[in-house]
Amino acid sequence: ESESPNVPAPASTSLIQSESDIMANFDDQLGPTIVARILRQRRKQLENLLRCYEENENDIISALEADLRRPKQESLIVETEFMKNDIKHILYHLSDWVKAEKPSKSIINVMDDVQIYNDPFGVVLVIGAWNYPLQLLLVPVASAIAAGNCVVIKPSEIAGNCAKFIAEVIPKYLDNDCYPVVCGGPSETAELLKQRFDYIFYTGSTRVGKIIHAAANKHLTPTTLELGGKSPCYIDKSVELRTAVKRILWGKLINCGQTCIAPDYILCSKEMQDKFVAEAKDVLKEWYGENIQSSPDLCRVINTNNFQRLLGLMKSGRVAVGGKYDASERYIEPTILVDIKPNDPIMEEEIFGPILPIYNVESAYDAIKFINDREKPLVIYVFSNSNKLVKEFQSNTTSGGFCSNETIMHCGVDVLPFGGVGMSGMGSYHGKYGFDTFTHKKSCLGKDLSAVGEKLASARYPPYSDRKGSF
Ligand code: NAD
Repeated sequence: ESESPNVPAPASTSLIQSESDIMANFDDQLGPTIVARILRQRRKQLENLLRCYEENENDIISALEADLRRPKQESLIVETEFMKNDIKHILYHLSDWVKAEKPSKSIINVMDDVQIYNDPFGVVLVIGAWNYPLQLLLVPVASAIAAGNCVVIKPSEIAGNCAKFIAEVIPKYLDNDCYPVVCGGPSETAELLKQRFDYIFYTGSTRVGKIIHAAANKHLTPTTLELGGKSPCYIDKSVELRTAVKRILWGKLINCGQTCIAPDYILCSKEMQDKFVAEAKDVLKEWYGENIQSSPDLCRVINTNNFQRLLGLMKSGRVAVGGKYDASERYIEPTILVDIKPNDPIMEEEIFGPILPIYNVESAYDAIKFINDREKPLVIYVFSNSNKLVKEFQSNTTSGGFCSNETIMHCGVDVLPFGGVGMSGMGSYHGKYGFDTFTHKKSCLGKDLSAVGEKLASARYPPYSDRKGSF
């Protein structure tokens, strides 16, 4: 086991613009972890990353199309624009975020310098997932760079075209000594995890999240785990149904349901279910036409394994909408299942595909109980016109996030932390929360060595006596 982080070879000095005299003197001896701390380096690298997104937008869209048959507009909204806005937000706020915090002091420390210094962790490992192969990897990478870390960037091998893009193009824009890309699947990742990192940020399944956590534990490495699970969606009878159906179906069908925060299943009354099904048929026709398979606006399932898994889940309950599929394209028609029982296979694992089961509950109380009897979800969705009912759900359930009368969009609000709780993950990121995730809050106390100060402080020295009192 190595005792120190696996730091890449020393950086070329041409990139270094020292910020202090001390650094200037040691310019040619600076290793990557020191280079990565320099604020100008952080800014420059983030600007390069932004330029990378702008200059390679078409290649990014093509790679996503090749991996997921993702429509261009979806790729723009959920990957390139998302990543660009993230970096612009960071660059705008970075000089404020890096400033040491000066907490209010008590009288005892009135003459002292008391501050919370924003220290980078050092070398961090960021492991991405295949479903949003660029933004789930590069948004945390940008936060880690902003916080002054070296970053080992590990794309998901399952989205092969995007992994190839990352391996070939990102190194042209980033300092390779500080921010290397490492490719590979489970065995290469397992090798990587034997190294000691200062922080690990993982996005993917709960199953693999446990493997990552166990590996990190060997070195007591702190981790953020962005995992999955079943995110429920309750629909109350008070809703404006057409709008609710559109927002729920969009959240379910974007990226063909392969979204960690997709509404996984619906909880509603039998009466609401019938109305939802009728309205959903109409909306699907409006969006994708009579022949959904020929629409260019629906992604495909990522690979054969997942396709077969989803066909298995479609056997639960009864098909009320959709149900068709075509293995040659890994196409699954948007499908709504009814007559679902709590222990049906589809209710026991995250669906991660274009299948929406509806489980009937009698009341909001039943829905809250149903949710609380299961693992804590990544997000809970509630559709209702009653503010009171929404607040009942918000205050009586636990989940990574909570969103009423909308789906997915909460993750784009850059002032909100994004992350799970319990089996849906630990830790959070986005915007300032990403910067804080990759920052150690270092407590710093600064005193002077003046005679007056020393006189005041000397009560603590032995020999102790009651007369001297406490310090
Ligand atoms: P995946 O198969 O791409 O795996 C994720 C990463 O883990 C990859 O980089 C992969 O190489 C690595 N990996 C896989 N097996 C490994 C092993 N045995 N040891 C070490 N590393 C290994 O993605 P996935 O896990 O199928 O992703 C889908 C899951 O991710 C879903 O559960 C989804 O909900 C979740 N997810 C969560 C978020 C979030 O932000 N919370 C976002 C997207 C996806």
